[in-house]
Amino acid sequence: MSDLDLTQSAARVTAAIVDIESESGSEKALADVVEEALRQYPHLEVLRDGDSVLARTGLGRAERVILAGHLDTVPIAVDSTGRRNVPSLLEGDWETGTLHGCGTSDMKAGVAVQLVLAATLADPGRDVTYVFYECEEVEAERNSLGRLIRTRPEWFAADFAVLLEPSNNIVEGGCQGTMRARLTFRGARSHSARSWLGDNAIHKAGAALRRLAEYQPRRVEVEGLEFREGLNAVGITGGVAGNVIPDECSLVVNFRFAPDRSQADAERHVREVFADLDAEIVVTDSAPAARPGLHLPLAAEFVSAVMAGMPGEPTAKFGWTDVARFAELGVPGVNYGPGDGSLAHKPDESVDLGQVVRCAERMRSWLGSAS
Ligand SMILES: [Zn+2]
Repeated sequence: MSDLDLTQSAARVTAAIVDIESESGSEKALADVVEEALRQYPHLEVLRDGDSVLARTGLGRAERVILAGHLDTVPIAVDSTGRRNVPSLLEGDWETGTLHGCGTSDMKAGVAVQLVLAATLADPGRDVTYVFYECEEVEAERNSLGRLIRTRPEWFAADFAVLLEPSNNIVEGGCQGTMRARLTFRGARSHSARSWLGDNAIHKAGAALRRLAEYQPRRVEVEGLEFREGLNAVGITGGVAGNVIPDECSLVVNFRFAPDRSQADAERHVREVFADLDAEIVVTDSAPAARPGLHLPLAAEFVSAVMAGMPGEPTAKFGWTDVARFAELGVPGVNYGPGDGSLAHKPDESVDLGQVVRCAERMRSWLGSAS
């Protein structure tokens, strides 16, 4: 018998897995429990890879969908009295109450829904691949979803993907892309007492800052959802000493772009904005946007299955999510999960258990019925 009972409600499973600490890089204990629990079910093929766990049905259905979630959390918070936000704390009851603790919203509630569905849906109408991955909350290079897609491509052949990040049970389509670029301004050093002998690189950066302050970001509709772009300075460095005219200043800008632009288009735009300034521009990192694709038949069917009669409308996803990795693979995907993203990473993080229960019910009826 596994320590983790997946026949309980998704709300109780959320509490059980919140109580197993899994800060990024330390997911082993939780991955062990998840793997062991899933191996009890003969209808699942289970694969352990690092501290990620994958499981799938193999029923030969016409369609296959991926449900994905990360096992890691940000570090446990400790308040001024020394109290930690793990283990979890239940306020109210398991159907309508609130569960407090690190990772409740981001995203152990979503992972609990995946686990309960994986265990209890032995005969779904669609084949399902469940992905539980590690290191989402840290630098992109450590994110194991990227590694798994590269090394286990056969596990990611699917028609549709749902990433169960917290979205208050509202379908969020696509995601914005993100690009960082470093603008380097060069001048000539001199003693500041004889500044006419130098060329001040920090002053040159001023023109770029003015341009950013005046920049009018686009609001653009893509496949029925409105995306809002942004181009902002996120860092600046320069200066040699208090009596030296600086010969170098570098400015880091972050462009959040809508999914009607490719990464190449986004780079072209950033270069255009600063084209007439004497700056060397280097893109330091970038990740593509994902189109919402909510008009595609599987996505449209998903939206009506999980949102009919619920408050709210599908919206655009602001911020980059792993949905973009699925889009790159040609697998359309959405964000949809219990919990409130605005509580994520906060010391008083919590999740509304009613959302957890409803998400599990809606997902179960969507997966259970072959169309
Ligand atoms: Zn998350």
